[in-house]
Amino acid sequence: MKRIGLRAKILFSLIALFLVGFIVLGQDYIRHNGEWVLHPANMAIYKNGRLVVTANIMDETGEVLLSMNDGEVKYNDDRMIRESTLHAVGEPTSTIPGVLYYFKEQLIGYDMVNGIYGGGSDITLTLNAELCSIALDAMGEHKGTVGVYNYKTGEIICMVSTPTYDINDPPDIAGDTSGKYEGVYMNRLTGGLYVPGSVYKVITAYAAIENIGDIYEREFECNGSVVINGETITCTERHGTIDFETALAHSCNVAFAELAVELGPEIMTEYSEKAGVGERYNINGLRTTASYYNVSDADDNALAWSGIGQYTDMVNPCQYMVFMGAVANSGTAVTPHVVSELKSSSGMNQSVPNGSRSINMIEPETADELKALMRNNVTSYYSESNYAGLNLCAKTGTAEMEGEKPHSWFAGFMDDEEYPYAFVVVVENAGYGREYAAPIARTVLNALKGLDG
Ligand SMILES: [Zn+2]
Repeated sequence: MKRIGLRAKILFSLIALFLVGFIVLGQDYIRHNGEWVLHPANMAIYKNGRLVVTANIMDETGEVLLSMNDGEVKYNDDRMIRESTLHAVGEPTSTIPGVLYYFKEQLIGYDMVNGIYGGGSDITLTLNAELCSIALDAMGEHKGTVGVYNYKTGEIICMVSTPTYDINDPPDIAGDTSGKYEGVYMNRLTGGLYVPGSVYKVITAYAAIENIGDIYEREFECNGSVVINGETITCTERHGTIDFETALAHSCNVAFAELAVELGPEIMTEYSEKAGVGERYNINGLRTTASYYNVSDADDNALAWSGIGQYTDMVNPCQYMVFMGAVANSGTAVTPHVVSELKSSSGMNQSVPNGSRSINMIEPETADELKALMRNNVTSYYSESNYAGLNLCAKTGTAEMEGEKPHSWFAGFMDDEEYPYAFVVVVENAGYGREYAAPIARTVLNALKGLDG
């Protein structure tokens, strides 16, 4: 009896070990099966490191941006379309990930239950390739980004990142020493992080509206600079005696520096977070880089600079575009997506959740007040005639950079039921927001609305 007992114990131990091993393997399979099947060593779907499937990636009009046919990868025939949609579509070896990478399983026709069901897929994007081309052309030789999205549905219609290159005729990027291709693989709309400069004043204004009762009755004295905590904060000009609305329109540093100090670090931090600073949005698998605001070690002078988008403030263009969308959309931010439809050519229709979600970012009354302020920026200062027909609400930014030319920003939205689009334009090391980023936005928005100019 004793011997049988021992054998049984050994047997039970072995069974237990087997079960543990089975569970570990099972969990690993569930977690990593896609990676195993989709690994480039799998000859069934890869040939010479390239996917051997039939699939298409199209823009919102059905224009084929990329087609894959038995290992042949073919991009659109138009060079401007190839270059302007490259960061969104992606590149076959995933140097630029894009949809090609994030939707690899769907493009191949693979899922855990069915295995490789084959046939490939057609993926329709929310992008408009022609608009992307227009945005790329408007950027010229500058580095930066143009983003435009529908603030009611979350559809990104324009996502352009420069520098870019022609995938059909790739330049010698690794051997280039001119800096022309610096950061070329990065999608600057989703992955970029920039000193925001004066566009950040909209966040400071958001905090001021809700925390300073008599904000609209306030008067600010701008003599061209102000000394805070022993150090000078300069303004672009002497604005004299101005109210809150004019201070935002004319982007007065003195007024907004004083407001940031009056609001204090806790409120400034709270409202930065409310506006989405620190958030990362998931755009069909692609995660945006989080914007940054931290005044935990700031004295009053540094706090003042933080309220005008300097100090250590860093902003991701996509995050700011979403914040602009919230101002436009009565305070509800709809997070962006870039894939609208997925069809398997073997007949299996897969429903893709577009991934957009709604966030109550701003109280509706406050959002409407911010909207009125941003509309006033255009009508009273940027010149409505430049933006005729757009019903534009916007804010410029000229982000000062130590030893470099400033980044030029322009962000806002069209207050238009038929064209509910928010946008962001960043032009790196260019100069004034009004001079460089604003005309690019105007060109793209006019094209979107079918207006001349
Ligand atoms: Zn001023």
